[in-house]
This record gives sequence, structure tokens and C-alpha cells, in this order.
Amino acid sequence: MTAELITVGTEILMGNIVNTNAAYLSEMCARLGLDVYYETTVGDNEKRMYETIRTALDRSDIVILCGGLGPTQDDITRETTARVMDLALTEDRHTRKRIEKYFKTLRGKDYKITKNNWRQAMVPQGAIVLDNENGTAPGLIVEKKGKTAILLPGPPGELKPMFERQVVPYLEKKQSQAICSCMVKICGIGESMVETMIEDLISSQKNPTIAPYAKVGEVHLRVTACASEEKKAYRLIRPVVKELKKRFGRHIYTTDEKVTLEESLVAMMAKKKLTLTCAESCTGGAISARIVNVPGASDVLKQGLVTYSNKAKRHYLGVKKETLKSVGAVSRQTAYEMAKGGCRQTGTDACIAVTGIAGPSGGTKDKPVGLVYIGCCVNGHVKVTENHFSGNRAKIREQSVVSALTLLRSCVLKYS
Ligand code: ATP
Ligand code: MG
Repeated sequence: MTAELITVGTEILMGNIVNTNAAYLSEMCARLGLDVYYETTVGDNEKRMYETIRTALDRSDIVILCGGLGPTQDDITRETTARVMDLALTEDRHTRKRIEKYFKTLRGKDYKITKNNWRQAMVPQGAIVLDNENGTAPGLIVEKKGKTAILLPGPPGELKPMFERQVVPYLEKKQSQAICSCMVKICGIGESMVETMIEDLISSQKNPTIAPYAKVGEVHLRVTACASEEKKAYRLIRPVVKELKKRFGRHIYTTDEKVTLEESLVAMMAKKKLTLTCAESCTGGAISARIVNVPGASDVLKQGLVTYSNKAKRHYLGVKKETLKSVGAVSRQTAYEMAKGGCRQTGTDACIAVTGIAGPSGGTKDKPVGLVYIGCCVNGHVKVTENHFSGNRAKIREQSVVSALTLLRSCVLKYS
């Protein structure tokens, strides 16, 4: 089945907001096994929107629209879709009551609801109404002559719960086949290397398919299969995941969609009863922050030190004065001493340390912006990596954080 996305809003065309809904909806459609061939953004202009919806309904089975369902004059998605599909708008009494209740609960029973809000209770004849739990505009599913238009509100906080709770079950029922997938998450290997290592699998793939997604410092591979029933789809997925495990080995930190790198790391360290100190310079506490994202992190993380100055590196981590003087703060030796000293001074089993130049200034010919040393000490064994990251300050710091987590993970696997 083919699906097509239309995101509505002049503010998207003007670059005022980033079209995150399109990314979200595309990913959800891919997960549902729908083929998305077109994605359009159109402003709040009736004529152009009419043309866009008509073209989309001509060439795709399902058209998902988002935005422009609100109460104001420029919100015309509902009316325009009804016009394209040649359906009259009628009042949905259930929605009218829900809107009334929504305002009275939120604003008190004396609140005067403005007239334009009732427009949101007008729905194309025969439409399936999707209740909005986080706003007033309902979502709508409109079917006619084998084509389906799905209208969703623009605010992500309204769109996502509605899509997941109401649209996904609808689309799953529409699909005669079961689509199942598994996410293989890899760290410590670059995107091109990953792709090269599975080139043969990708080029011969049909069912299951393997789709790579590059994240900062990670590559995720979604393995998706379709079959007449769920069990059969998973039977197709299993050997492919097994093959991926054979090829990527310990670089795979999870095959569970929901598990993050820091979660898998904290779980692993907690299981091995290892305690941790973070000694951070250019990441400024961001590694600690990622670890604290995980509930139960306190079993593992004992402290995070932001040792930004040379003095702090000496005082809190025992980095030698001579080291800082001879090779400088951004050096292999300093990273080594930070990691080792972090364990020594605090008594934890492990310490991850970062020292680098995040830029934009401060770089030299010998030590350019993006040079980051990461040191890791686990049970007395120290490993230091030299990294050359590119991009702006934020990007360099982000890459440093993920690389630090990855190094820590590999040292924990090796030395404990
Ligand atoms: P409202 O009732 O708030 O008017 P609506 O369904 O009419 O909702 P829009 O007016 O198109 O939706 O957008 C409302 C807000 O939702 C935007 O200001 C923006 O913050 C967010 N939004 C809309 N479309 C997108 C999109 N494609 N990606 C990300 N955010 C979006
Ligand atoms: Mg609006």
C-alpha cells in the first residue's frame, strides 16, 4: 500500500519551524510497511492545498495530512479535503461536547468558548473521528472510493499520541499482512564501514529488508519483515539478526528498539557491580547527564567532575604539573592521568575522562579544533583514544560524549 504525506503550514515553508512531523510520520509509515513515495509541504493557501491534496489522492492509497485543523481562519485543511473528496461537512455532536468539556475543564465553567472553535466539530460526512486527548481539534479519517485521507493536528504533542493510539491500529487492520521489525543498534563503527560490511545483505534483500539509520556515533539497522502473521514475520527476521550479530559482535549493544546506549551501559555496569566517575573537560558534564538519563544510574555513577581548568585537573584528579606543562591539557598523557586519577581520587572502579578542543577558537596547527582525547580506566587498566571530530562546537561535544560512552562500554567488556 502506498502512503503520501502532506504537511500544512506557511511557517514550515518560511523556515520558521522545523518539519519534525514529516520525519516522525515517515518513520512510522516505514515501520508499518507502507511505501511512502511523496512528501509535500504546502502553505495555508486554499487553491494550492486543493491541488496538492487532489494530486496526492490520485496517486496514493493513503494520504496523511497534518496541520491546519485549528480554529482560526488560516486553518483550512478540513474544509479543503472535504471539497476535494466531494463530501459535505456535518457537525459531529460528540466532538462538540468534547470541545465544550475540554474548555470547561481547562478554563473553568464560566469560560466563553469563541464561535470559531465550533468549526472544529464540523467533519466530512462519514468520517471516522479521532478524539484529541491533548487539544481541541479532532483527527479525521475520511474514506472514499478506495482512497483514504487521514487528517491530524499539527502540534507534535497532539499528533503523536493520536497517531500511536488511534491511527496505527487503524492502519494495521487495513494492511492484510503483518509487518514486524527489530532494531539492531551498533556503536563504535562508522556508518560507511557498517554499510560496507553488510553490502551483500542489503543488495540481495527483499524480505526482510535492512534499513540503516546513522545517528551521532551510532548506526541503527532496522530489520523489517512482512508475512501473513506476526510469528512468521519474526521467523524471517531471526536469521538476519543472527547474521548481523555474527558480523558486528560486541559492537551491537541492543536489539531492542527502546534501549539507548546509556541504558545498556548502565545495566551492564550495574550487573558487574562497577562504580563510575566522569571526569570531563570539553563535554562539561554532558556524559554525566546522559548517564543520569537512566533510572537507577545512582547504582553506577558516583560523581561527575567538570575539571575545566588545569588547576582543577591537578586538584581533583591528580594530573601532574609536569604533564600539563610539557604536553598540555589536550594530550594523550593528560587523558590517561585524568582517567587513572579519577579512579584513584574517588575510589570508583571506573573513570571516563575527556579533554579536547571544542572550538571554534583555541585550535593550533598541532592541536586543531576537534582534537579530543578520551581516557578510560576500568579496574586499573587504562585505554586512551585520540579522536578528530568535525563540525561546530555542539557537534564536537556531542560526538565526544557518544565516543566516551562507547569507549567505556568496550573497556568494561574487556577489563571486567
Ligand atoms: P492549532 O489548533 O494549534 O492551530 P493545527 O492543527 O491547526 O493546530 P498548525 O496551526 O498547522 O496546526 O500548527 C500548530 C503548531 O504545531 C505550529 O505552530 C508548530 O509549532 C506545530 N507544527 C505544525 N506543523 C508541524 C510540523 N510539520 N512539524 C513540527 N511542528 C509542527
Ligand atoms: Mg492552526
